[in-house]
Amino acid sequence: MIFAVFAIVIHFVLLIFFIQWKLGMLEPKKEEMGNMSPDEYPFYYKLDLSHHRLRPLPVVRPGNYLTVEEEDILRKRFRYYNELPLWLQPRFCKRVAHFIRHKDFEGRQDLEPTTEMKVLISAAAIKLTFGLDDYMLDHFRKIIVYPEIYYSKLSKTYNKGEASEHGIIVFSWDNFVESLEEFDNGINLGFHEYSHALLMMCSNTDIGDPCARDGYGQLSLLLSADHLSTKVRETGLFRDYAFKNKMEFFAVSVENFFERPVQLREKCRELYDLLRFMLNQDPAAEVKISTELPRYSE
Ligand SMILES: [Zn+2]
Repeated sequence: MIFAVFAIVIHFVLLIFFIQWKLGMLEPKKEEMGNMSPDEYPFYYKLDLSHHRLRPLPVVRPGNYLTVEEEDILRKRFRYYNELPLWLQPRFCKRVAHFIRHKDFEGRQDLEPTTEMKVLISAAAIKLTFGLDDYMLDHFRKIIVYPEIYYSKLSKTYNKGEASEHGIIVFSWDNFVESLEEFDNGINLGFHEYSHALLMMCSNTDIGDPCARDGYGQLSLLLSADHLSTKVRETGLFRDYAFKNKMEFFAVSVENFFERPVQLREKCRELYDLLRFMLNQDPAAEVKISTELPRYSE
């Protein structure tokens, strides 16, 4: 008899929990929610047994799209978007929308980040990670925008941009726009800083996209043999800054990969193929993005 009552109580409690869960009443902790508004972005929950707690799993839901104004900016200002096959453009838009809504944009020196700034800064990140499953650079939650070159207290230098291990990416808007307009000189502030962010995620933790992490391991091996950097130096495509350290080498490689892909492929196939594998994109080819690989999913 006692057993029966006990079993009924347990079932009743479980039922209450289940109903609450279904109704979305078990909200995730504030810090886990980032900038998401529960009204705008419903959560799915999954039971994470390793931590014995419910964890929010953000998903891109229908409705999480760019506004007409935002898409118009992409169309007019972001070449890559227009070059994508038509069927991939909605996926690009969704990812940009997801990025804008989940990052915290802050201006400095009286600058208030505009819609245009948010769209273009987000689009540069999504272009870099468009071939990856893990495209959000999750560790980096805050994006700070200065109107022009700024003094960084961290490095004690005047910078155009930086990516910090504390999860912050900084851009000088003047220089960011300049990179957009000069799209084939091998210099692009957006790709440069986002490459640092991607590499930090690959090297410092076990988070981030697994293929990008594998590629990073291979790049490290090639660079430690010094063979690759000598070969790259001879191409004449890389500015001296690339040889400062491994992080800068990767960042400048990515800038060239997207801005001068055909030259990079011709002059250093080894590095081009490594980046092609790592980012799952092929900018020198007619079809610039592989859609056949199983890891390429929404
Ligand atoms: Zn750098």
